[in-house]
Amino acid sequence: MRLIATEEAWSIPEVAAELKKVAHGPSQSLDKPLVKGVYDVEPGHPGYDAYPFLDGLLDAEDTRLKQMDQYGVAMHLLALTAPGVQMFDADTAHELAVLANDRLAELTHKYPKRFAGLASFAPHSPKRAAREMERAINELGLNGFMINSHTHGEYLDDPKFWPILEAAEALDAPIYIHPRPLPASAIGPYLEHELWAGIWGYAAETGLHGLRLIASGVLDRFPRLRIVLGHLGEGLPYFVYRIDYMSRLLRQIGSHKPYELDPSEYLRRNFLVTTSGMNHHPPLQLCVDVLGADRVMWAIDYPYQQTPECVEFMDTAPLSDEDRAQIYAHNAERAFGIAAPAAAAS
Ligand code: MN
Repeated sequence: MRLIATEEAWSIPEVAAELKKVAHGPSQSLDKPLVKGVYDVEPGHPGYDAYPFLDGLLDAEDTRLKQMDQYGVAMHLLALTAPGVQMFDADTAHELAVLANDRLAELTHKYPKRFAGLASFAPHSPKRAAREMERAINELGLNGFMINSHTHGEYLDDPKFWPILEAAEALDAPIYIHPRPLPASAIGPYLEHELWAGIWGYAAETGLHGLRLIASGVLDRFPRLRIVLGHLGEGLPYFVYRIDYMSRLLRQIGSHKPYELDPSEYLRRNFLVTTSGMNHHPPLQLCVDVLGADRVMWAIDYPYQQTPECVEFMDTAPLSDEDRAQIYAHNAERAFGIAAPAAAAS
């Protein structure tokens, strides 16, 4: 069975250097705790120093490939790791995205059977972002896009970002909405007890982003737009009955502008989910039931998550072999335009 992992984190030294400056500087960015943990590891730092994430992020051809071989992982769909470029000013963000996309394309061209890639863009200037998106697909041959949720507290349903949605739809390339810390307006109650990150805050933030695309009606304007959410849909598939019920009510009383479908129908039409960081069979089964086995894709979240656990989770999932093969590879091949093995270049 072919194994394609679809949320695989990677970085380049230039981006790491900028993030290290953030870690040392006066920035009050909400990404700072994450950035300090990964890019500014000092002896005695509680926690992260046990995990050499930065080495794993900057490496593609050495340990990563060896580990892929060891556990039978055919391909990583790589993307510049969170928080990506969005915390920087517009020009820095754009320049770093272009550089990262160029480097990513070098890797995918050197190893067409081992690496595919999701391009970055700087949403701050949506028209410039759309041009870079076009270059990433048409010139660099990358496979889609990754955005790390909000940009300075703003979300993709905002009309200012529609050139980005329009470009993704026209290029028929998915946008993977990856978590990042909640914006200043929302993060307050998550800070105490350290709840802002993967334990809960990331899902709250990213699920909200997905739901905003649905509840804003923006998917009526871009009906062929494809959105990918990690972590088995950031809670949305679990909540879908209540979301449908309440959205009907809100449309009835006029609190929501009318939109054409029920939220569950947008979820099944426009969204795919991945298993990143959710090696648990019950929510996997729920996503298969709610969305269909053709809308779920396997992911590791290397180097933050451990490959053997992720492989064992999927190998032992109570699924038919046909569904398992879909989730392990075929859905990703279809969603991201990854060549099936027989057709792949050498
Ligand atoms: Mn991730």
